[in-house]
Amino acid sequence: APDAGRHAQNDGCRTLSLSAHVGFDSLPDQLVRKSIKHGFCFNVLCIGETGIGKSALMSSLFNTNFEDAPSTHFLSSVQLRAQTCELQESNVLLKLTIVKTVGFGDQMNKADSYQPIVDYIDAQFEAYLKEELKVIRSLFSYHDTRIHVCLYFISPTGRCLKTIDLLTMRSLDSKVNIIPVIGKADSISKAELEEFKKKIMSELISNGIQIYQFPTDDETVSEINTIINGHLPFAVVGSMEKVKIGNKMVRARQYPWGIVKVENESHCDTVKLRRMLCTNMEDLREKTCAYYELYRRCRLEKLGCRDIGPENKPISLQEVIEAKRLKFFLEMERKEEEIKQRFVQRVNEKAAMLEEAEQQASMPVCLEFVF
Ligand code: GDP
Repeated sequence: APDAGRHAQNDGCRTLSLSAHVGFDSLPDQLVRKSIKHGFCFNVLCIGETGIGKSALMSSLFNTNFEDAPSTHFLSSVQLRAQTCELQESNVLLKLTIVKTVGFGDQMNKADSYQPIVDYIDAQFEAYLKEELKVIRSLFSYHDTRIHVCLYFISPTGRCLKTIDLLTMRSLDSKVNIIPVIGKADSISKAELEEFKKKIMSELISNGIQIYQFPTDDETVSEINTIINGHLPFAVVGSMEKVKIGNKMVRARQYPWGIVKVENESHCDTVKLRRMLCTNMEDLREKTCAYYELYRRCRLEKLGCRDIGPENKPISLQEVIEAKRLKFFLEMERKEEEIKQRFVQRVNEKAAMLEEAEQQASMPVCLEFVF
């Protein structure tokens, strides 16, 4: 019977079962092939004071050396420096952009240190919005520079967060996924580190700062993500150098008293951070889209765009543009009329002044005549 495979009514859409293989179960494979062909893009923002180990950590995380000119401590304001490179692992291509703050925390007045960073993140959203609103747009080939994750480097003081840390994270937590990391974590003892981590988390909570939570709704990663969420921030160590240990070259930092191995999980959390970034890259990208949606919504609302008009009627974008254009023309007409009236008024005033002057000029002649 034709109704035999009918299962249920679902929002007016029937769920039916198939009597034989159709082939659309290959859709996910098509997506995988297409994604591999197109490649992936990932943008990381590193915020932290000069010399906290941003470059060394990035090189350690991505197992490559990002050459960068050393920055000075004498910049009058915070700047952002972006570097893009392509990395390939197996047949997967990653277009990686690393943006680093330069001069962060080096100014006498640090109150506005976060502003250039906020502006930078907004500028990437704005560039994406502009591309999206173009008549002829090419979002597929567009180099998306929106920041997917922000690694916030905390100094290993063992005390508490600085005001600049709180201010900066608070101004960014509605725009970007923040993952706090303790930089140069080899300079703090194990016991102090555990205390410091707890203190940082409680300060973030008491100041209402939202940091990125690794998702726990996907059962393949929920267990590890729950554990890691409870161990934030990551205590990281980075190094540009490799040291020979046995017959292997490993990324490490060599001291008179011993060696800190970047890849050793009992020495630091750098490998954990790398693993978490890689396994949650898609979630980070999705959450970035959610932040972008927020930005886009505010921007379009400021431009006067609405989805719902009076009496809850939907409005089309065309109607909005038409309404804007009409408002603009009416405003222009009003201004033109105003200028015309002002002109006429000034002409009248001049004419009156001339008439008066003329009358005054003829008066002495009359008086001479009288006397
Ligand atoms: P950036 O200015 O934040 O990019 O800092 P760099 O990565 O250029 O590092 C500045 C200095 O700190 C260099 O001498 C690095 O060797 C050193 N450094 C980087 N990472 C670490 C680390 O994890 N621990 C220690 N002790 N020193 C580090």
